Amino acid sequence: MLRLCNAASAGIVSRLWWTQNHNDPEIEICREHINLFIRDIIILNRNNKVSHRHIQKERRMNVYLPRSSSTRATEVPEPYSSHFISVVVPVFDEEGNVQLLCERLIAVLRDASFKFEIVAVNDGSRDRTPEELRAATEQYSELRVVNLRRNYGQTAAIMAGIDYAAGDVIVTIDADLQNDPRDIPLMIAKLNEGYDVVSGWRTDRKDAAIRRNFLSSMANRLISRISGVALNDYGCTLKAYRRDILAGVRLYGEMHRFIPIYASWMGAKIVEMPVRHHPRKFGKSKYGLERIFKVLLDLVVVKFLDRHLVKPIYVFGGFGLFSLFISAVSFFLMLYLKFFNQISMILTPLPLLSAMTFLIGFTSVLMGLIAEMLVRTYFESQQRTVYTVRGTINFDGPA
Ligand code: UDP
Ligand code: MG
Repeated sequence: MLRLCNAASAGIVSRLWWTQNHNDPEIEICREHINLFIRDIIILNRNNKVSHRHIQKERRMNVYLPRSSSTRATEVPEPYSSHFISVVVPVFDEEGNVQLLCERLIAVLRDASFKFEIVAVNDGSRDRTPEELRAATEQYSELRVVNLRRNYGQTAAIMAGIDYAAGDVIVTIDADLQNDPRDIPLMIAKLNEGYDVVSGWRTDRKDAAIRRNFLSSMANRLISRISGVALNDYGCTLKAYRRDILAGVRLYGEMHRFIPIYASWMGAKIVEMPVRHHPRKFGKSKYGLERIFKVLLDLVVVKFLDRHLVKPIYVFGGFGLFSLFISAVSFFLMLYLKFFNQISMILTPLPLLSAMTFLIGFTSVLMGLIAEMLVRTYFESQQRTVYTVRGTINFDGPA
């Protein structure tokens, strides 16, 4: 099948070459068809690769790949219009993008007959973004704006948007028109199939090849491996969530990309869906290479909180005891060498090693105790439980 498609695409490509060189008036239509066709073949190829890899690794993830990207917009199964959808958009210095974004978003959402609102969070923009947003609210009644006092970062802006959103479905999307609003109805359709999180996958990402795409694909692999949740593209902001899955999720640093990981740990059903991606037309990216380090450190935090939130003493105490053990071994070795081999203590590094590891071990155990106190404060001050319940049967009151 693939070979057949590849042969067909070669035929069409040669037709394109012919039309290009013979000034054919059909050229534009032809080019459009070829682009869509080639794209389908790429997706088909990927489909094979992905499903194979996923079966091999027996991961908990599902990957949804549409049969044809060109007909996607008409493939949305009914009913999906019963949800109230909140589209959360973090906006920072996006002058020039605001009007277009609202126009496109609202056209797609109205077309699909959704009940919806757009929650745009102005993250302390210093250009004309606030004025553009205000003007847009006069034009579109579905647009709501939250103005943050200063720039807090994309994750905080998304968090604010979620807090202010009223919908039972939350969709997050970038304001810079790199994500395509036409993918939203497909994501909602996917949620309707019973998924809790639909995560966008920029299969054809339009950012700098090495500086962005390559590094981010390495980071994605690392995050997948460490978290055990197999997603190909954590960084894509275009994601859709059922509201209840976000209850209790608090985001810090660069952590909005890890929401699917939290969700999956809570037992959510997650699916990844290829989405369109466009190059940035107005404004410029707010991020450089430093984001990689932030994301990696956040990953350490996420992993730590997942494994050891409830019993941090096991980590600190474990390391502390190991350190004390090394200290004891060095101490007795030092005595042995002194009394049985007549080697002076100061001729070996053992006294120093023993003292240092003793101090480190002791401090580590104490830090574990402090962490235990913090954990108790965390859970008890907020009346949180160390477990989460999916539902109950035959209890009085709401299940
Ligand atoms: N953004 C934000 N606060 C920030 C940085 C970015 O709200 O401090 C928004 C920005 O307006 C855009 C989205 O986050 O809507 C993604 O930012 P950007 O396009 O710069 O990131 P990239 O696509 O390059 O990863
Ligand atoms: Mg962008």
